[in-house]
Amino acid sequence: MSYVLPELPYGYKDLAPYISEEQLTLHHQKHHAAYVKNTNEIVEKLEKARKEGTESDMKSALKSLSFNMGGHILHSLFWTNMTPKGNGAPKGKLAEAIKNDFGSFEQFKKEFTQTAASVEGSGWAALVYDAQSKNLLLMQLEKHNVNVYPEARILLVLDVWEHAYYLDYKNARAKFIDAFWNIVDWDEVSKRFK
Ligand code: FE
Repeated sequence: MSYVLPELPYGYKDLAPYISEEQLTLHHQKHHAAYVKNTNEIVEKLEKARKEGTESDMKSALKSLSFNMGGHILHSLFWTNMTPKGNGAPKGKLAEAIKNDFGSFEQFKKEFTQTAASVEGSGWAALVYDAQSKNLLLMQLEKHNVNVYPEARILLVLDVWEHAYYLDYKNARAKFIDAFWNIVDWDEVSKRFK
């Protein structure tokens, strides 16, 4: 079984002016595609070694697998938690949970923005659901796979690697985070929460 680059649920031009056609095309076709290709290559290499009875360097293979597969999974979530018709704010049960756990939607946005802005180097901000405490939490992922709460379900992610925004915003990560709120698909995030 192999991993496949998913198609975007909208056109490359459709998230402009918040994310330009050039930026989105590069991000999807070059960066995400590379994570998919690398994941498949590592899995094939492990299978081949298994068949041939040779020993794999598991530490290095699995480290690289978690990085590339993490990149693939996170980008797949990211594309689908955005929409050209940004729907402003969450509704229903998700809205209630955000209010309960963060105090207000505004406070959640403030904390999520701070989470994204302060990721060290390349990484992600995520809204997650912790099944044990039944709470919503924020999570900061360095690269694609460092600092994760392994049991938490990811509801909303924002890619703050420079490759996600450099063409449009240069090094101004904060401007990209600001723009992101215009294209969040809260219906999709609610679906994941449900
Ligand atoms: Fe990315």
